[in-house]
Amino acid sequence: MPELITLSGVGGKTPAAFLVKSQEHSILLDIGEGPEPGVLPDFTGIDRVDAVLLSHAHVDHVGGLALLPNLGNPEVYASQATWELMPEAPVADTQRRILPVSGQISLCGTQITMGQTGHAPGGLWFHLGTGRSLIYMGDHSEESPVLPYEAPPAAHTVIVDASYGDRNTDLETQLDALENAAKGGAVIAVPIGGRGPDLVIALQARGLPVKVDEQVARELAFLTKNLHLANSQVHGDLAKAVNTPRADQDAKPSDVIIAVGPNADYGLAQSLAEATDEPFRFVFTGFVPQNSPAKRLIETGRGEWLPWNVHPRMKDVIKLVEQTGAKQVVPAFVDPNKATHLFNTLGNRICLDRAIKL
Ligand SMILES: [Zn+2]
Repeated sequence: MPELITLSGVGGKTPAAFLVKSQEHSILLDIGEGPEPGVLPDFTGIDRVDAVLLSHAHVDHVGGLALLPNLGNPEVYASQATWELMPEAPVADTQRRILPVSGQISLCGTQITMGQTGHAPGGLWFHLGTGRSLIYMGDHSEESPVLPYEAPPAAHTVIVDASYGDRNTDLETQLDALENAAKGGAVIAVPIGGRGPDLVIALQARGLPVKVDEQVARELAFLTKNLHLANSQVHGDLAKAVNTPRADQDAKPSDVIIAVGPNADYGLAQSLAEATDEPFRFVFTGFVPQNSPAKRLIETGRGEWLPWNVHPRMKDVIKLVEQTGAKQVVPAFVDPNKATHLFNTLGNRICLDRAIKL
């Protein structure tokens, strides 16, 4: 019987790596690093896989690609947008394969269906016809104003992004707090290929004088040219947002600046954090690693952390499980102690084993 091996990503916020194994073939779903730097999946005992499917370009899903030579240098499948967001990825051109953002392919004799996750441009979930069928959601969100979310079909087993545990707050409520924090000036630090365009459009709609760095400008331009990767309701907003002034040359502490990197660990956010003559204030909205500049800025009062949903709320996870009719649920990227209510609700459908029969 085919099996799912949860190599990493279960039991806490650890890098994504899930192996789908049948007698003939093995397909690896994501190969991440972090989010704490240097944390990689343990592939001990696995010397080859037939293919790797990448859900999206964030480091906790793709940061372990340098390990591919240890796995027999398999072909790597991802959407065009995912490849474009990681031009430096250590994958030879001959190994790169492009997936459509929705539709079906056949791989290693397995029917694979995919759809957009609403989490990153070109981010995909995968439905595999293996065994009694499996869905891997990668990271997903139904709340992104910009990025489309497509609900997946039914499946027996679902690996679901449960990063937020029991969090149930809506994005609209979070936006009120963010607007208040950003008024008067702040650097809102974002990851590459993440919430940048959403924040630009949401804060411009509330009349804030937003500026962007080169990367966020590039992402806005990319979405404007690839409108199938954006919700139709925001196509007009995107056409305006693409002309947002740039902060690279002209940044003042009174500006609302949306810039990479997410923990002031690279990019314009890092440069502005280090500019001591004009101390910029910071807002962080994602996972803050220990020993990061973001952690220090928060501790010294120059930064604050505010939530901004890019993962599903508890009610979204529960709805997904009901909609797919899943009998086995693997809650990924969460410490079970931070998801007591979610775990109680899903009850005996929860699987935390290393090997799960599909
Ligand atoms: Zn992600």
